[in-house]
Amino acid sequence: MKIASKDQSAVELVREALDKAHQYQNEYQVFNWINDEAIKQAEEIDRRIANGETVGRLAGVPYALKDNFLSKAGETTASALILEGFKSPVTATAVKKLEAEGAIMIGRTNLDAFAHGSSTENSYYGPTKNSKDTERVAGGSSGGSAVAVALGIVPFATGTDTGGSIRQPASFNGVYGLKPTYGAISRYGVVAMASSTDCVGFFAREAEDLDLLMEVCAGQDANDLTSLPDYYAASEAEEGPKKIGIIKDFDNEAIDSEIRNTLKQKIAELEAKGHEIVELEMPALKYALAAYYIIVPAEVSSNLSRHDGVRYAYRSEEAQTLDQLYEHTRGEGFMPENKRRIMIGNFVLSSGFYDAYYIKAAKARTVIINEYQKAFEQCDFILSPVSPNPAFKLGAKVNDPVAMYLEDVLSVPLNLAGLPGLSVPVGQTAEGLDLGLQLVGPRRSDKSLIKFAQELKG
Ligand code: GLN
Repeated sequence: MKIASKDQSAVELVREALDKAHQYQNEYQVFNWINDEAIKQAEEIDRRIANGETVGRLAGVPYALKDNFLSKAGETTASALILEGFKSPVTATAVKKLEAEGAIMIGRTNLDAFAHGSSTENSYYGPTKNSKDTERVAGGSSGGSAVAVALGIVPFATGTDTGGSIRQPASFNGVYGLKPTYGAISRYGVVAMASSTDCVGFFAREAEDLDLLMEVCAGQDANDLTSLPDYYAASEAEEGPKKIGIIKDFDNEAIDSEIRNTLKQKIAELEAKGHEIVELEMPALKYALAAYYIIVPAEVSSNLSRHDGVRYAYRSEEAQTLDQLYEHTRGEGFMPENKRRIMIGNFVLSSGFYDAYYIKAAKARTVIINEYQKAFEQCDFILSPVSPNPAFKLGAKVNDPVAMYLEDVLSVPLNLAGLPGLSVPVGQTAEGLDLGLQLVGPRRSDKSLIKFAQELKG
């Protein structure tokens, strides 16, 4: 296994991770909570190794958990006041699987509240800073997890990706970010954002580590009826020359010139290695962002209705009546972006608007799914930028929701189609900011995608 160095004890590995976590916390705000008790789990692993007992494939490996995964360790806040103080009675399936293999969670990472955002600035606890420039955003929503891996605090971290929340912060911080095929990993125990696109995935510094994490976590779960039977362990990465699709429309002025140049350079490198480049016309992709920002808020408004001030954690002190209890608790406990999505969601689902917005977006989604299907008749993978620009300045977009949504224009289409996507760190700008490119494959092609990432990185 590449993650854990066999020369170090679990206690040493975990101690090192915790020390770094504390050391970087003030400057980067990576964690919502640091799990100092993790040392005890490490001692237990070392004890088992000393006794010759079998230990798992991730024995003693420290990791960071995005703070929207339920587990009994610490509070699960999703970086929102409304969940502050929430001690989960259950543990997410992905967390159970990682910990059954001996992985040790050293902290819960910051995110945009409820994973709504592309910068981690929507967190109740304040923004995580970019690993290369603390005046810039970490990306989001899984900003804390990306930076935890980029700073070398942990070798891997979990994330969730509903519309790019793993891939975009991965590319902003120079690490790998995998959003698997929809349903590959159980969503049970993950704070729901948009159930039809939410995916559990990972950040890592080595592509091989993603492979191991998929081996450990993929599989069907009776608690998540959308989880797929485990295809991952049985799938084989196909070797040999590949056909790489490039989307014509994406080469335009809206995309930063350094990103376009990096893409061109990578295309030339791939061709030189014997891969074939195929130009794709995918006109329906331009509707993806609009469809996403109707479908996702619709699901968000439904999923967030459970936060009523009666269940879970926060309850407003202001309320005299039941209606006031809902109003004040939700008014105080959600962040502005959460409220915006609840309102948009309720609007597009309301009678009179449902056909005009929600149904139309659902139809556009089908067109997008079909367009990808056609594209994969012509190529094995699609290569594109992850986002239109590298990490932007803190504060630059946070008060302009539409500018923030436009960040997601290249990452959301595949979520609507349930496809796997992988952000591969491929270079840096002249200023030293990280750049990633996105590989997209057909459903269940995750293993080949991870394999090919290594070819792309060069
Ligand atoms: N940035 C996207 C959004 O705000 C994606 C978020 C996510 O993947 N959780 O919807």
